[in-house]
Amino acid sequence: MKYKPTIGLEIHVELKTKTKMFCNSLNDPNEKRPNVNVCPICMAHPGTLPVINKEAVKKVLIVGKALGGKLADYSRFDRKNYFYPDLPKGYQISQFKHPLVEGGKLNGVKITRIHLEEDTGRLIHIKDGSLVDFNRAGVPLMELVTEPDIKLGEEARKFAEELQLILRYLDVSDADMEKGEMRVEANVSLQTTYDVGKANDIVSRLLGTKVEIKNLNSFRAVERAINYEIERQSELLDNDKKILHETRGWDENKQKTFSQREKEESHDYRYFPEPDLPPLLITDDWLLTTQLPELPQQKRERFKKEYEIKDEQIEILVRNKKLADYFEKIVSCLCLEIESPNGLIQLAANYLITDLAGDLTITPNNFAKLINMIAKGEITSRVAKDVLREMREKGGDPSIIISKKGLRQINDESAINELADKIIRENPKVAEDYKSGKENALQFLVGLGMKETKGAINPDILKKMLKNKIIL
Ligand code: ADP
Ligand code: MG
Repeated sequence: MKYKPTIGLEIHVELKTKTKMFCNSLNDPNEKRPNVNVCPICMAHPGTLPVINKEAVKKVLIVGKALGGKLADYSRFDRKNYFYPDLPKGYQISQFKHPLVEGGKLNGVKITRIHLEEDTGRLIHIKDGSLVDFNRAGVPLMELVTEPDIKLGEEARKFAEELQLILRYLDVSDADMEKGEMRVEANVSLQTTYDVGKANDIVSRLLGTKVEIKNLNSFRAVERAINYEIERQSELLDNDKKILHETRGWDENKQKTFSQREKEESHDYRYFPEPDLPPLLITDDWLLTTQLPELPQQKRERFKKEYEIKDEQIEILVRNKKLADYFEKIVSCLCLEIESPNGLIQLAANYLITDLAGDLTITPNNFAKLINMIAKGEITSRVAKDVLREMREKGGDPSIIISKKGLRQINDESAINELADKIIRENPKVAEDYKSGKENALQFLVGLGMKETKGAINPDILKKMLKNKIIL
């Protein structure tokens, strides 16, 4: 490629707190009635004063800790002045000079800063004008800014996906992109690759004009919008045209970005220290009580080492923490003293991921019992699937279900012998077909045996016996 893409992300996350950032109004993202979680403070009535929500501050700090950033011991809020109808105060309380976190890293991408601010209300555009719902106004909003370290749409998507996972593990936000709980903005520029001389030149001087893309409502949109933008800018440069420093939106239907407005510079916001809030002096005891839980990457590594299951399965489990916890409970119930514990764990993972499809109603103990029975050859895999279905629907101990229905695997040679004779006697034509070379005919006969025994007969032994009887 002629031009080197440079991408930096700005990600906003609504924090899961009981109340809003600076008042006692509830922070309830599921509230459907408009303007019920509001009060004079978040409605910006004159004379009201904000109070900092410590829970929100702690949540940002724990994210900073998880990402290896430097946590501030002194932090402060600033006013960011701008007018928009969803912002009742005419300014947003944000952080400019003294963010809560600086530095850190995720997926090899350096993090510039993580700060705390307040969300705006929500505008609803109707035919005759616009409505505004202030339930969201003043909800704690974390903003994470990355360095322009990213090179591809895919890399940006993976960064955002991993961040979402971490936020969920830390239980600081549900970070659902469709609901706007996590909002990604991507800054994209192209650098013309010419000889830049000394390596210690200021990086920003070498970067091209950046365009900021908003309204990215899904991970897929993040990847596609960035890649589209790289193409669009390359074409402009190819034709000796200038790239405008602007904000663009993403049109999901057209799969294109479109110009929204020219970008304001940060001095347009006239940031200044928020006079109504004291600075924060953050001491160690703020975080001492909050131990980091196991993070997604640690879980991946531990699962690989402890359980030796397939990478794709590990990924499914890591992305669904409930499923992973359930899996670990099953493993703890397996009879691992039998010869191949890893085989048994792998078997459990297979059944859990392909047959249970996220339905976790079966007790781990009963699930483990079933896996043990499969591993010991007490039931066939055909029967296992049926029993699993029954366990899902009605619950219960698999060994009882199996005994009641007579589904224990039939390995007894004389019983199988008898059945093989019967099948051949009743299907002489099919047996003849097999003899004359039709391989499928044998499988058909085995199928009849499975049907007759509701899947309980050992299919390998039956197959061998049928074969011997017909050919000999
Ligand atoms: P602004 O003041 O325009 O918001 P910032 O310096 O705050 O710009 O950076 C915002 C985001 O843009 C960061 O994620 C940063 O990494 C990214 N960024 C900065 N310069 C560039 C560039 N030339 N190309 C792509 N992204 C950039
Ligand atoms: Mg910025």
